[in-house]
Amino acid sequence: MTNLDLVSAAWAARQQAAANYSGYRVGAALLCQSGAVFSGANVESSSYGLSICAERVALFKAISEGERGPFVRIAIAAEGRFTPVPCGACRQLLQDYAPDVEILLSREPGMWETTRLADLLPRPFSSEFLK
Ligand code: ZN
Repeated sequence: MTNLDLVSAAWAARQQAAANYSGYRVGAALLCQSGAVFSGANVESSSYGLSICAERVALFKAISEGERGPFVRIAIAAEGRFTPVPCGACRQLLQDYAPDVEILLSREPGMWETTRLADLLPRPFSSEFLK
């Protein structure tokens, strides 16, 4: 799967976003080492705090289907004034389950910026603290 394919999968997933309140529609596509791809879109609730981001939907789908990583790459797609980035909660979950994942940030189909979780979350809390 090429980076373009993964970014395209994230844009396709965005079509399923249920962003009824914010209007901020996001798609994500997570590539596993097995070659499987799990997609996600944000799903919002009238009780705002119950909403969940596209990145976590994709990650939870993969984990709940038995994938344990290492996860290779995640593409995140959203239109807006800024290039999309994962929120703090998603950064923590990526740290917990996909710390070495490459992250593709896409503000328009066919275009993306590549980053690493270590750049977005430079001093992470992790399971090491709990030992
Ligand atoms: Zn998030």
